Amino acid sequence: MRVGRGLRGMVSGVVLVLTGTGLLAAGFARAQTKTAAAPVAPKKIAIRAGWLIDGKSDKALQNALILIEGDKIVSVAAGGAPPPDVVELIDLSKATVLPGFIDTHTHVLLQGDVTAEDYDAQLLKQSIPYRAILGARNANIALQHGFTSIRDLETEGAMYADVDIKTAIANGEVPGPRMQVATRAMTPTGMYPLFGYSWELKVPTGVQYVDGVEGARKAVREQVMYGADWIKYYSDRRYHFEADGVLHSMVNFTDEEAKAIVDEAHRLGKKVAAHAIGSDGIAAALRAGVDTVEHGDGLTDAEIDEIAKRGIYWVPTITVGAYVAPGRGGNWIKMVDLEKAAFQKALKKDVKIALGTDAGGFDWKELNQAKEFEYYVQYGMMPMQAIRSGTIVAAELLGWGDKLGTVEAGKWADMVAVSGDPLKDITELQNVKFVMKAGAVYRNDLSK
Ligand SMILES: [Zn+2]
Repeated sequence: MRVGRGLRGMVSGVVLVLTGTGLLAAGFARAQTKTAAAPVAPKKIAIRAGWLIDGKSDKALQNALILIEGDKIVSVAAGGAPPPDVVELIDLSKATVLPGFIDTHTHVLLQGDVTAEDYDAQLLKQSIPYRAILGARNANIALQHGFTSIRDLETEGAMYADVDIKTAIANGEVPGPRMQVATRAMTPTGMYPLFGYSWELKVPTGVQYVDGVEGARKAVREQVMYGADWIKYYSDRRYHFEADGVLHSMVNFTDEEAKAIVDEAHRLGKKVAAHAIGSDGIAAALRAGVDTVEHGDGLTDAEIDEIAKRGIYWVPTITVGAYVAPGRGGNWIKMVDLEKAAFQKALKKDVKIALGTDAGGFDWKELNQAKEFEYYVQYGMMPMQAIRSGTIVAAELLGWGDKLGTVEAGKWADMVAVSGDPLKDITELQNVKFVMKAGAVYRNDLSK
């Protein structure tokens, strides 16, 4: 273990140093440009949208004119001609424009893990640099599918490589969504794979093992030091049904440890996401004071009431559940139905449901993560509600509700467009044909 970790630490160290140099170089170049030439006004462009679902109004707005200056939206109006200083008019007059999509639960460093063998092969046979290359590719797949922001919830053994992918995207080196990242995630020793290898072998672990209250606080500090925007921990494992018909689970951390994780993260201004599938794991996460509950298949009625009352976000990740169930069998198949029932109850109680898919738990190349919208409508949301779940509600979960999630003046210019009407057919969202992030066009199959 020590040898493996030491080597990985060194590799991460080198990457961080290079990134630091790159940042300095970029800053220097910008400073030079500023002194060499007069400041250039941000480029003004306009979008003519046949229909606009702005993420705020209950109905789509017909023939909208959206003005963008630099990376921000400056105005949204019904009809009218663009002002004379607009340098480019993007014609989406036959399309429906929406806010950029947000997936609040992804793993860009994972390529699907239906079975333990799939998972182990990635950690044992792929180097972290190789996984980071695939991660950058996956980030671009997300962007091309209309996801202009993601919260990536742990690297699955790839240490802090999510921070590097986020930095490379933010520096404009590779295309991808805006990212908030959780780095390594946590369980106590022995409660997360890899499992089943000889004790003589030093195999990698999918998370950081953390024990005791002081260990928990130190691990949070360490992950934040290396760039974690969120702290993620695994509240439970071993999901099983008992005679009461409720999905139970084994709780990983003692209450004291889990509370220390949450308290230290909050003290450092970071929020906490808990993987919690069984009712016991969900109850423990709620006792600890987490900000978001991930998966939540076994939510009981009382737990639904509590998360509604406390305004805690639920990220259901239905796509991954439905995808892995046939391959995993057993309880996983029953869990899909159980989660559907919980979803319907949560909807009635106005729980804040933020769209999250667990992309990476399924292969990025195989499934479009926008399928999650389709499940939400199948499970009882109105199409507009499902769209909000993957735009403004998700933006609020990220703490970016004032910057993202709707198409309105003052927000970042993140938008997508589809040919049909997603309010009639939600599967249209799986066929995005135009993507803009921060005022730059990354995909346009519509007007060129
Ligand atoms: Zn996940």
